[in-house]
Amino acid sequence: MSAEDRYDAPHLRRNAANFAALSPLVFLRRSAAVYPEKLAIIDGAARFTYGEFYARSCRLASALKGRGIGKGDTVAVLAPNIHPLLEAHFGVPMAGAVLCALNTRLDAAGLAFILAHGEAKLLIADREFLPLARAALEKLGSSLPLVEIAESPSLGGTPYETFLGEGDPAAPFAMPGDEWQAIALNYTSGTTGNPKGVVYHHRGAFLNALGNVLTFGLGPDSVYLWTLPMFHCNGWTYSWAVTAAAGTHVCLRRVDPERVFAAIAEHRVTHLCGAPIVLTMLVHAPERVKRRFEQVVEVATGGAAPPSAVIEAMEKMGFRITHLYGLTESYGPTTHCAAQEGWEELPLAERARLMARQGVRHVMLERQRVVDPDTMEDVPADAKTIGEVVLRSNTLMKGYLKNGEATEEVFDRGWFHTGDLAVMHEDGYIEIKDRSKDIIISGGENISSLEVEEALYRHPQVMEAAVVAKPDAFWGETPCAFITLKPDALPTTGEDIILFCRDHLAHFKVPRHVVFGLLPKTSTGKIQKYELRERAKEVS
Ligand code: ADP
Repeated sequence: MSAEDRYDAPHLRRNAANFAALSPLVFLRRSAAVYPEKLAIIDGAARFTYGEFYARSCRLASALKGRGIGKGDTVAVLAPNIHPLLEAHFGVPMAGAVLCALNTRLDAAGLAFILAHGEAKLLIADREFLPLARAALEKLGSSLPLVEIAESPSLGGTPYETFLGEGDPAAPFAMPGDEWQAIALNYTSGTTGNPKGVVYHHRGAFLNALGNVLTFGLGPDSVYLWTLPMFHCNGWTYSWAVTAAAGTHVCLRRVDPERVFAAIAEHRVTHLCGAPIVLTMLVHAPERVKRRFEQVVEVATGGAAPPSAVIEAMEKMGFRITHLYGLTESYGPTTHCAAQEGWEELPLAERARLMARQGVRHVMLERQRVVDPDTMEDVPADAKTIGEVVLRSNTLMKGYLKNGEATEEVFDRGWFHTGDLAVMHEDGYIEIKDRSKDIIISGGENISSLEVEEALYRHPQVMEAAVVAKPDAFWGETPCAFITLKPDALPTTGEDIILFCRDHLAHFKVPRHVVFGLLPKTSTGKIQKYELRERAKEVS
């Protein structure tokens, strides 16, 4: 027997006992078997144990099958962070189908586009969004079986609980035969043109969820507050991750600081996630809504760059920050800013600066590089040379639904191209400088909008800041700053801001124009730079 064959003999091949498709569906089945009486979900006054969570998800799967829904079918859900959406994360794929959690802040036309493009076979809509669902269905122009999460449905659909009643909680469900099978469809925001449908597979969902369990330190004692929209990359896969850890999900219909602080205090929340905007909201919440809590609350933030001033302010309030970076295409988080020994001893402001970097790959990410996108050569680890972040991982999407061209382009030369520009630090940590479309080029020099924003957030009167390119006849582009002052800010002028920046930035990076006011945000908490670029053109 040759050396190569020794370990590959016929009796050493895969069999039904030693190989199964990886799927996050096993997480719920296991947690229900191991902890049937443990509290799985808190949603307002409702409570569900893991046994109930499982039974309800099985019912949902069986009810969907009863309606003829199975492998390859898309089931759309339009709901805030409530228990039926968590149940859908398991019930829909248990029926073999694909979950499309809709962004609740889209307009009717945007939703109709997704329902048509994703060829949804059934829509589950929450009472809060029934008028929106009705308008979307009208735009779609064809009827769709509808399940309404409402006691008295108003659109002629089946009430959710009645629908669950159609299902059998004991009906067997099949695990996917192939881990490459699709589990979810998530649309990117599509700031330029139509959104793209990102297709997730069971294997990636399984792996990224476990990566998140490890990165964020989840366990059976974890109490996870749903401040991150579940429609955003399936809640960065925490829908599956918290269930894997058999922690408790605390649902939240709306993110407002009063409800967040109340939930933290009342349910002894240990973990929550959110875009930096959510953190800013907590930091600047009125004193009367801030509550004291004894437990350590771990907060993972990402989706946009958290300014170090925000990290610092959160840590001062007793939260512990984990910084994550990722994209819809990578099931949410791919990197984290892993803390090294000794960081704890650093002064907070210095530590916050280190933590504001996007960091290193998390345990499930195969490779992460910063490269010259033309040559694919790594940039030097000099914290200066800007390149594109490219990834290779088992936790990357299958591709874009019905869009081979965009899929090929993004997977060019065997790497996933993030479109994010970063530098590599000497210690191997990456720092995002901009999305490629947001970088400002002034007199031939690159200006990182994030770097200018980082300086602005250090100004004592600034609550939020965004910097975009303003076309300029001489320089090509110059930085234009949009600023929201703190609620109790002292009078501050554009000139004050510019003088402050001169002390903190190279001269050519200092904003030429400063505009005060509220900043437009996307539904996932990102500042809409596209919109600001339009506004900047009008500024004189
Ligand atoms: P959208 O395209 O709708 O914004 P995504 O949620 O997929 O959808 O956005 C991913 C992008 O968000 C990344 O490509 C990156 O530009 C930005 N991003 C995410 N996390 C961070 C972070 N920690 N720091 C800086 N940028 C981030």
